[in-house]
Amino acid sequence: MDCPQCGAKDVIEIKHRLADHVELYFFSCHRCEERWWDRNGQKLALTEVLELARRTRR
Ligand SMILES: [Zn+2]
Repeated sequence: MDCPQCGAKDVIEIKHRLADHVELYFFSCHRCEERWWDRNGQKLALTEVLELARRTRR
């Protein structure tokens, strides 16, 4: 995964599991400090991630 902001190739990738079938990746670029979330190849806004976390919580 390359940074969409600056093109750095060594971005930090952290996998998050919200529920059985809900997995997200959090990416963080150490060069430009861009941060973003990805689910199934789709970029998510932080508000969408929070909404997803709220809906999957039991
Ligand atoms: Zn970057």
